[in-house]
Amino acid sequence: MTIKSNSIIKEIDVSEIIAMLNKAYADEWLAYYQYFTEAKVVKGIMKRSVLHELNEHAEDELRHANLLADRILQLGGTPLLTPKEWFSQTNCGYMKPKKFDVKSILKEAIKGEQCAIVTYSKIAQKLKNKDIVTYDMVNKILADEVEHEHDLQSIVEDINDFVSSLKK
Ligand code: FE
Ligand code: FE
Ligand code: MG
Repeated sequence: MTIKSNSIIKEIDVSEIIAMLNKAYADEWLAYYQYFTEAKVVKGIMKRSVLHELNEHAEDELRHANLLADRILQLGGTPLLTPKEWFSQTNCGYMKPKKFDVKSILKEAIKGEQCAIVTYSKIAQKLKNKDIVTYDMVNKILADEVEHEHDLQSIVEDINDFVSSLKK
């Protein structure tokens, strides 16, 4: 006898879960590309540690996309099949880097993480007590996004401290 995984999901439409996960999946690909690109173009103060962090986050976002795609498939859905759909499905959009200096790049990246945190919190809220497996996965991703935001904020603080130490 096979147990349908969907049978353990209560009071929420599986198609609704799949749709939410696909929107998050679009976000993760765009976040991945944004970090990838930012790490290429960034310049200025503390560039090396900044681009190390950006690349690390890019890797995490790609890992998130992977987790989401696998869960979408487990639920009987199909992950978005074309990059065009990333733009029609995304919650957080894509912020084209306009200025390449470290502080501008960090500011945009922090905005992106804050949007990701809000998005995953909303998804978690909708899944609570309804789909434990997806809920658990979403919370793990959420914890990563919180860490990302914190790491970026820490670099901004380090830069500010360094700059003010120069003025003394
Ligand atoms: Fe992510
Ligand atoms: Fe992130
Ligand atoms: Mg980090």
